[in-house]
Amino acid sequence: MDISVILTGAPGSGKGTQASTLARRRNLAHLSTGDLFREHITRGTDLGRAARRHLDAGRYVPDELTNAMVRDHIERVAPDGGIILDGYPRTRAQVDFLDGLLSGLVVLNLVVEPAELLRRLAHRATVGGRSDDAAEVVRERLALYAVECEPVLGAYRERGLLFDLDGAGEPHAVAARIDEALAALPAARS
Ligand code: ADP
Repeated sequence: MDISVILTGAPGSGKGTQASTLARRRNLAHLSTGDLFREHITRGTDLGRAARRHLDAGRYVPDELTNAMVRDHIERVAPDGGIILDGYPRTRAQVDFLDGLLSGLVVLNLVVEPAELLRRLAHRATVGGRSDDAAEVVRERLALYAVECEPVLGAYRERGLLFDLDGAGEPHAVAARIDEALAALPAARS
């Protein structure tokens, strides 16, 4: 399948879970910028040191660092396309940068109501999730997403590449909606 799927959605929308299972079902590479940053932080690389304070505050890592990391990763794991992007692009500058890297993009946007996002993130915090799942940082991440997502979604919506999907319910039900959306794409793209 020569397609690049961008999974978007607010923190807690389930995009990470869905990206991993979709990657396995379709045998595609999976790039999670959040996971990559966390790996760099754990390994104590220069990038990890530079990224850490941004993650801890629930803010975005600067575009130059993020874009360079994504380019290196794509060149290594999916030089011929066929990848799922999870957590990228999140800014207009990232959208433009990605245009120079990949074609055949389709964007699946998981829509979940705010009360449910908060419930899921609070649950993840109690089961030993991530350092940025603390309540104040969650509020920061959700507020940032609400402001920043629209220009990114708008860019793809204008090009007819954006599909809104209901992200409520059990993971397998959401996965079925994703498969249905991908199956409905024109044959040349799926
Ligand atoms: P979530 O979407 O639930 O906040 P992620 O694991 O996708 O979780 O991202 C965690 C953190 O990693 C973000 O809050 C941000 O600091 C950083 N990050 C991830 N992707 C990007 C990106 N595309 N641009 C800038 N920072 C990013």
